[in-house]
Amino acid sequence: MKHEDVKHEDNVARISSLHVSCFMFHVFTSSRYDPPMEDDIDRILVTRAQIATRIEELARQITVDHTTAEGETEITLVPILTGAIVLAADLMRHMPVRMKIGLMTVSSYPGKSLRTQGSSVLGSQLGDIHGRHILLLDDILDSGGTLRMVVPMLKEMGPASVKVCVLLRKDRPAAMETPVDYVGFEIPDEFVVGYGLDFGDYYRNLPDIVTLKKAIYAPERS
Ligand code: 5GP
Ligand code: MG
Repeated sequence: MKHEDVKHEDNVARISSLHVSCFMFHVFTSSRYDPPMEDDIDRILVTRAQIATRIEELARQITVDHTTAEGETEITLVPILTGAIVLAADLMRHMPVRMKIGLMTVSSYPGKSLRTQGSSVLGSQLGDIHGRHILLLDDILDSGGTLRMVVPMLKEMGPASVKVCVLLRKDRPAAMETPVDYVGFEIPDEFVVGYGLDFGDYYRNLPDIVTLKKAIYAPERS
């Protein structure tokens, strides 16, 4: 590469990082999200900072609980797709232990549903989980239908143990009666999006857990 090219590349890098900084400045000073997303949000229920703190606590607790007297830890993390991908990505980076990842895709709130339509497994990529310690991850515990279906399915495959971690648990009897081992936050019985949770497959990338304006999810009633 010629000297001028290097200088040019350098400038391009500097200009694009300036662009990114300007964009970030705009995001943090005027609104938290890109305007079309900001307009859809009613209120923030759990902030990104609260999530980050809680994820670290959960990761520590889970690691301790899965460590043997000899100091060995072996876990297979199984995030339920698609909602639990963000939780899995953040949690696993606070658990630097011997870990495998298995995947399961479950559909329960297809498209723009606001209540469960009954859970069904669309696919899985678990590998051999016989004799392994499974940590099943889900974004939210609502009716409990997903876990009631998935946990027995996993247990049939002969793992050494199955524990369940959900980021959110709704304040409703069905959720409270469903056994889980780790809960990030208890939230009111409301429809939420962000941090992996979607509405019509959008909003998963919001860093906070938020509620949507009624005009977005029930336009005919607002
Ligand atoms: P359950 O089977 O416990 O009724 O619900 C679990 C699944 O339903 C979650 O993994 C999630 O995909 C979906 N779900 C439940 N409540 C909500 C919610 O408030 N918002 C969104 N976006 N999805 C939800
Ligand atoms: Mg889900």
